[in-house]
Amino acid sequence: MAKVLIVEESMVFGTLLSEKIQSELGFDILWSKSFRETSDEIEKDRDSIFAAVLDLRLANNEDFDIIDFVISKDVPVIVCSSEFSDDAQDRMWSKKIVDYVLKAGKCSVDIIVNSLKRLRENSGVKILLVDDSSVVRASIGDLLRNQNFVILEAGNGVEALKVIDENPDIKLTLTDYHMPDMDGYELTKAIRKRYSKDVHAVIGISGQGSNRLSARFLKYGANDFIGKPFVVEELYCRINQNLDMIRTMEAVRYAAMFDYLTSIYNRRYLFQAGSSFIQNARRNNLSAMVAVLDIDDFKKINDTYGHLTGDRVIVEISQILKARFRESDIVARLGGEEFCILALNMNRGSVNEIFNEVRATIEKSRILTERGDYISVTVSIGICTSIKKDLEEMINIADKKMYKAKVCGKNRICTDVKTVSNVS
Ligand code: GH3
Ligand code: MG
Ligand code: MG
Repeated sequence: MAKVLIVEESMVFGTLLSEKIQSELGFDILWSKSFRETSDEIEKDRDSIFAAVLDLRLANNEDFDIIDFVISKDVPVIVCSSEFSDDAQDRMWSKKIVDYVLKAGKCSVDIIVNSLKRLRENSGVKILLVDDSSVVRASIGDLLRNQNFVILEAGNGVEALKVIDENPDIKLTLTDYHMPDMDGYELTKAIRKRYSKDVHAVIGISGQGSNRLSARFLKYGANDFIGKPFVVEELYCRINQNLDMIRTMEAVRYAAMFDYLTSIYNRRYLFQAGSSFIQNARRNNLSAMVAVLDIDDFKKINDTYGHLTGDRVIVEISQILKARFRESDIVARLGGEEFCILALNMNRGSVNEIFNEVRATIEKSRILTERGDYISVTVSIGICTSIKKDLEEMINIADKKMYKAKVCGKNRICTDVKTVSNVS
């Protein structure tokens, strides 16, 4: 279990901080009160320490030694202090710290927790640094690696585009303006042709004539601009803010595509992606089939065992379906206790066999109820085995066949070629 090291003398603040870090982020806490204890903890188990939150009191020189020592062990450091003079903050920011949080009651605990959360989210996030000066790249790169980012570098716009095309998962590009071959504006325009602002953020950075440059950068599609000289804290804040926006948009896109309960595709995604799926299949002469699956007597399960058990049943069935079909097929929750599977190029001769096997797997599985005992459920499946005009028509046919399976006694499959097919 990853741990956060806290060096804090105040019992009240330390307890508040420890509890919040544990409950909100799930880290274990190491709480030390002196240099000696701190160095012992780090020597004992450096690898399990994710970050350190160090209280700084200027009157106490030992605090500076602790901060230097922890940084020298490559442990990310968040400094927390009631010292708000510019001098004190500048001195700390020159030390490659992750954050400097002013200690001012309860809200500073939230800021520290947020800072730790970001540090964890940053891990593996790729940032591209574009500047013709390798010295600038090295110094900004160091600052950003300090925040757990993965840093890629390019010396001009042309090189940058090559790196972006090789790494489609880059979330942010930080680019200088003046560069040979392709400048910051041209690069920003080219990035916008590939990715929108909420997928790949661009921050322009330059020293000369900052005001005019910043307006241009924004017009060409940059998300933000930083004028030189900047303080480290500003760089971090702007990068974090832009990445927060991208994360929020990712969450929105995810929620629009996936079902909240089961995490499989939702109805909206099925209709959006499924329609082009079918049109593609028609153009390329591929076969396609659609199955609609409904849990039998599900209302009884809710009534007998409660809604939470009902939810578990829905999740369990979604997992069985997801595991059985290919990544390229679409397994979606249509709503309630109904699912839909859209598969390409499934051998028509084996459709019955495959779905009968799915039906049998579900019948055999045992699902733990809220009360602690196991239950089993069955499903009825209707299948449209051949490609039709569009997805709606295929789902309609599969749905009719599913009702037929219900009428014929449930726990069975029914296709549009052979009327009713086997119970196990
Ligand atoms: P049949 O065998 O004919 O399909 O009967 P059934 O009881 O499965 O079907 P019915 O349509 O009568 O009832 C479905 C129930 O599913 C009613 C609804 O309250 C419940 N339900 C819908 N969505 C959810 C959900 O997300 N969670 C839970 N626990 N229940 C849900
Ligand atoms: Mg049902
Ligand atoms: Mg139903």
